Amino acid sequence: MLEWLIIGGGIHGTYLANLLTHLPGTRHDQVRILDPHPLLLAAWERNTANCGMAYLRSPATHNIDRPILSLYRYAQARGETARTAFIPNYNRPSLELFQRHCRHVIAANRLEQLHRCGRARTVKKDGRHLVVETDDGPLRARRLLLAVGMSDQPCWPGWAQALKVEGARIAHVFDADFKRSEWTRNRRTIVVGGGITAVQTALKLAAETRGTVHLLSRHALRENPYDFNPCWIGPKCLRAFYRADLAQRRATIDKARIAGSLPSEVLAAFNQALSADRIEFSEAACNGATSTNDGVRLRTSASVLEADQVILATGFTPRRPGGALVDRLIRDFDLKCNPCGYPLLGADLRWAENIYATGPLAELQVGPCARNIVGARNAGRILLHGLGHTPRRPPGR
Ligand SMILES: Cc1cc2nc3c(=O)[nH]c(=O)nc-3n(C[C@H](O)[C@H](O)[C@H](O)COP(=O)(O)OP(=O)(O)OC[C@H]3O[C@@H](n4cnc5c(N)ncnc54)[C@H](O)[C@@H]3O)c2cc1C
Repeated sequence: MLEWLIIGGGIHGTYLANLLTHLPGTRHDQVRILDPHPLLLAAWERNTANCGMAYLRSPATHNIDRPILSLYRYAQARGETARTAFIPNYNRPSLELFQRHCRHVIAANRLEQLHRCGRARTVKKDGRHLVVETDDGPLRARRLLLAVGMSDQPCWPGWAQALKVEGARIAHVFDADFKRSEWTRNRRTIVVGGGITAVQTALKLAAETRGTVHLLSRHALRENPYDFNPCWIGPKCLRAFYRADLAQRRATIDKARIAGSLPSEVLAAFNQALSADRIEFSEAACNGATSTNDGVRLRTSASVLEADQVILATGFTPRRPGGALVDRLIRDFDLKCNPCGYPLLGADLRWAENIYATGPLAELQVGPCARNIVGARNAGRILLHGLGHTPRRPPGR
């Protein structure tokens, strides 16, 4: 019998599996991670590779091992503390180093052995156990941890959906089947979006194609080192967050998350490419699009743009993640949600008896950093405290 079944093998599911397998009284083989991809972290690796990310936005202390300095020590032990491995601020690791360290942590802690490849469809209660129906038969566990993340829901604006139906060449950089190498051959590409993903994707394509790359952003490109103020990781900001009611917390999270911004080195690289005419840029909203004989035509608030293909880098839809699985869970277990649709979890991340959540599903309890790597670490501290494994109070509580 499993003690824990974790649904989702992304950064959150993998980090928390690492934590839970080390709890006193929990055997390694009493934890499972259910994820539809062939390997843990596959969605993370695909998305970061497709957008051509070179360095993480977060510091090295935000990693998937239990010791906070693990990534830094891993690099140090291999003599990899040079400027190419980390960049300011606070030692941001290269993506290559971060991925290598993830694989090292997964291997050292035998986490891939816990991975069952499949998708959870429904959850039922059977006495003291929970039974999860998967594509590959049922899994029984005492406790369930939902770590489903956003990666299954790339955001497709209405005009883009219509364009796809018309058969135009359009894709989202976070689509499960997107491969950037298949999008470098055409002459004219429009990349839509104004955040770090869009800018990195546009720069990477511009370097890889002989054609033109045009970035279309609704707003001016804006610099910000991180996608939220780091004060949200610790008590400085979280103390007031926990005093607020849940409706207020939603408003606070939406205000605190800095969407559509980029760190200085990415903005500098973009400005350089712009002045060298290696890239084009429009600050305008797309109001509609049509498929033409030789490609696509976008009607923007500033002009009409024509291209052979469009790549969306418009992030994820903000709706509650987890799709039909979470919808059914809410119905069958009568689970409570905030008016925004997101779970009303207890202060210990419990949604119902023996059902817990992390990642975006837990953001009303973890706060504005919930979706990030450090959000998994904070969720771990809350979970362990709630389970009585550590007397140390989680930050801000
Ligand atoms: C390009 C990019 C760069 C980022 N860079 C940073 C950064 O530098 N620093 C930082 O802190 N954060 C960063 N983030 C934000 C965040 O840390 C990542 O998105 C992270 O991958 C989120 O992890 P997750 O486990 O919550 O979700 P996901 O990566 O989405 O993983 C969830 C997994 O659950 C699976 N799943 C969903 N439903 C089911 C089901 N029913 N059954 C079984 N499995 C299911 C999914 O298929 C997926 O594999 C970045 C995000 C992106 C997209």
